[in-house]
Amino acid sequence: MSWDVLVVGGGSAGCTLAGRLSEDPGRRVLLLEAGSAVSDPAAFPAEVRDVSSLAACDPDGPHTWDVGVELTAGRRTRVGRGRLLGGSSAVNGANHLRATRADLDSWSGWSFDATLPYYVRGERDLDMTGPLHGDAGPVPVVRPAGELRAAVTERFLAAAARTGVPPEIDKNGDRAPGAGLVPANVRRGVRVNAAMAYVLPHLDRPNLTVRGDVTVARVLLDGDRAVGVEGADGERIEAGEVVLSAGSVCTPQLLAHSGIGPPDALRAAGLPVRHERPGVGRGYSDHPSVYLAFPSPDPEGIHPEAPGAQAAVHLDAGADPAGDLEILLFARPFAPGGPCHLMCALQAPESRGAMTFSADPRTPPRLEHRYLASGHDRARMRQVVRRAGELLAAGGLALGPTRTPGGTALDDRDLDAWITAHLGTSAHLCGSARIGPADDPLAVVDPELRVHGLRGLRVVDTSVLPTVPRRGPAATALMLGERAADLLAGRTLAEVARPS
Ligand SMILES: Cc1cc2nc3c(=O)[nH]c(=O)nc-3n(C[C@H](O)[C@H](O)[C@H](O)COP(=O)(O)OP(=O)(O)OC[C@H]3O[C@@H](n4cnc5c(N)ncnc54)[C@H](O)[C@@H]3O)c2cc1C
Repeated sequence: MSWDVLVVGGGSAGCTLAGRLSEDPGRRVLLLEAGSAVSDPAAFPAEVRDVSSLAACDPDGPHTWDVGVELTAGRRTRVGRGRLLGGSSAVNGANHLRATRADLDSWSGWSFDATLPYYVRGERDLDMTGPLHGDAGPVPVVRPAGELRAAVTERFLAAAARTGVPPEIDKNGDRAPGAGLVPANVRRGVRVNAAMAYVLPHLDRPNLTVRGDVTVARVLLDGDRAVGVEGADGERIEAGEVVLSAGSVCTPQLLAHSGIGPPDALRAAGLPVRHERPGVGRGYSDHPSVYLAFPSPDPEGIHPEAPGAQAAVHLDAGADPAGDLEILLFARPFAPGGPCHLMCALQAPESRGAMTFSADPRTPPRLEHRYLASGHDRARMRQVVRRAGELLAAGGLALGPTRTPGGTALDDRDLDAWITAHLGTSAHLCGSARIGPADDPLAVVDPELRVHGLRGLRVVDTSVLPTVPRRGPAATALMLGERAADLLAGRTLAEVARPS
C-alpha cells in the first residue's frame, strides 16, 4: 500500500489535517500516532473525557510525553504533553481562544484575514453568531453560562470592571483586550478533543487509515525529497508527501533525527547532518506564568460539568495594545477543598528558548526556556502579578496566607525573587520550526509549510508559529490543520484566503 499523504502525529493539528484531507476519496491518507488510538469517543478514559479533571496531563501518567524543562537557571519543571490520539487537545484545559490580529498579521504569509475563514470553518459556536463565528464546524465552542458559571467568576468579572478593565464579551471577536468569559471546546462536560471532532466520525472512510502505538523515528530522504518514514521498530512506510504534526517538542526532534537541523546540535547528539536548518529547536517561545492562590469563596463549589478556567482578563497596560498580560481565573480548586487560583502570564515574552536533542527517538528533547531573561519580561511579569493582586482585593477575595506575595506589598526586588521561586509555564510552546522566508536563518518552513530546501516534507503543528500567540495556541493548532488541508490540496496561498 502506498499513501498520498502520511501524517506523523495524531494531535490537534494532525487529526484536523487527516480528517479534512480524507474528505477527498481519491486521496489515501495515513495517520500515525505514537500513543494509543481509540475508535470511539466513549472509549477515551474518564480523565481524558472529563473537562473538570486535569489528571490526564500528569507527566507520570499513561497519556503523556514527560518533557523536562529548565524554566530559568536553576528552576526546573516537567510538562506532560499529549501522547494519544487527540494529542495535547486530549489532555489540555480546553480553553478555545484564537490568536490576536497582531499575532496573525506578524507571521510571514499569514494574516488575520487569511486565517479567519479557517478558524470559522472548524467551529460550531453555540453562543456567538456573525461573520467572525462558525455554526457548522466539528468543534463545539461554549462559554460558562447559567449553573455552569461559578459565583467566583461573577466576582472576578465585577472586580475587573471596578478596577477599570473594559469588558471583552467575545474573546474570539477581534476587539480590544479586556475582561470576559473563556470559550471552551466542551460539550456536556466532555473535553471535545481533535480526534473526536475530526477523525473518529470518519473511520469508515476507505481512504483513511489511523494507526496508534507507532513511534516514528525519522523521515526517509532520497536526495532532497522525503519519500516516507521509519518507525522506532525499523518499519519503513513510503508516501508521496510526509507531514510532521508531532507537536512543537517532538517535531524538531524528528527533524533532527532525520539529519535536518543545526549542524552543531545534531553532531552533539551523535546524529548525521543531511540538511542544515539552524532554526530547528531554536528561538521558540512560550508563556511564563505564576499562580496566586486564594481561598474559594464558593460554598456551593462549581458545577461538575463546568470548565475550571472560566474567565480571563487580557491587559495592555500601556505597552502592548493587543494585550500581552493575562490573568486567568481557575474557579475550580486543583484539589478538593483547596484554593482557587489566578494564573498570571506573560503573553508576548521577549525570551526565546532552545532544545538539546536526545539520541533516543522515544525521548523528547531537553528544553531551556530562558524565561525572564530580559528586563522587559521581568517588569511585565511584576506588573501582571500586581494587577492580579488588585483584582483580588477589589473582589473582596483574600489572598492565601502563605502562598502569595501579597500582590502589591513587595518591592521590585522581592517580587522578582517571589516570581522566580514560583515560576511555571503555560505549556504553550511554539516556534521550534518556524515559518519564514528562506533567507531568515531561523526559518524552517516557508509560508506554505514546506521545509525549506526539501521536497515532499511539510510541518503542520504549533512548531511553525513564529511566536507564541497572545492567547493559548490550541484553537490556532486546529486552524493550522484546516488551512494546511487546503494547501496540500494544491490551492495557493491567495486561494486559501477563501477556503473551499
Ligand atoms: C497540559 C496542557 C494544557 C494546555 N491547555 C491549553 C488550553 O487550555 N488552551 C490552549 O489554547 N492551549 C493549551 N495547551 C496548549 C495546546 O494544547 C497545544 O499547543 C496544542 O494542542 C498543540 O497542538 P499540536 O498539534 O502542535 O501538537 P499535539 O496536540 O501535542 O500533537 C502531537 C501528537 O504527535 C504525537 N507524536 C509525537 N511524536 C511522535 C512520533 N515520533 N511518532 C508518532 N507520533 C508522535 C504525539 O503523541 C501527539 O499525539 C495546553 C497544553 C498542555 C500540555
